[in-house]
Amino acid sequence: MTRVLVVEDDPQLVRALVINMQARRYGVDAAPDGTTALRLAAVRRPDVVVLDLGLPDMDGVEVIKALRGWTRTPILVLSARRASEEKVAALDAGADDYITKPFGMDELLARLRAAVRRTEALPLAREATVTTDDFTVDLLAKKAGRDGRDIRLTPTEWHLLEILVCNPGRLVTQKELLVAVWGPAYATRTNYLRVYMAQLRRKLEADPAHPRYLITEPGMGYRFES
Ligand code: CA
Repeated sequence: MTRVLVVEDDPQLVRALVINMQARRYGVDAAPDGTTALRLAAVRRPDVVVLDLGLPDMDGVEVIKALRGWTRTPILVLSARRASEEKVAALDAGADDYITKPFGMDELLARLRAAVRRTEALPLAREATVTTDDFTVDLLAKKAGRDGRDIRLTPTEWHLLEILVCNPGRLVTQKELLVAVWGPAYATRTNYLRVYMAQLRRKLEADPAHPRYLITEPGMGYRFES
């Protein structure tokens, strides 16, 4: 059974989450604050954590940092609308995904399934070829191709693509990409990303103006949709 830890101080939302998750055979623990969440996480070892960022006793980002000290369990953040900086801080601290309140229960459950699936698929993804309708990415050979022909990528383009493809469905923040590809001194050079992502789309997407695979999350980062 997949165990979920719900960290949320709104009792009505907790009730709705617990009912919906239990109906889908998740085992659910609920914590109304950060202190309880950290204790329950240590004791119950959840497979995924759903975490509200606005908690009564501590900042949700602090909860993420504390969890990341010892666990790679996926963390799905619940965040208030328009709090973009808060989302970025949560993602940089180690959250895997976020959903903006108010959200539909179906979307939350879909993201929960995706988070669990990613952890299950992670060791395999590194050895696999990622195939889309329009191109393939061979992570071992470090090659992209279409219709049996190689798509020529520069090392920088490849590095960006590799990070995104290894995190299918997950938002990778601008900062994560910039630091990983160019280094910490370039953490705010988002214009680099715009240029290189445009090049990648021209090479990979059937319709670069309306990308299907290399998705921009405005102000946040990028997501590979397979
Ligand atoms: Ca709250």
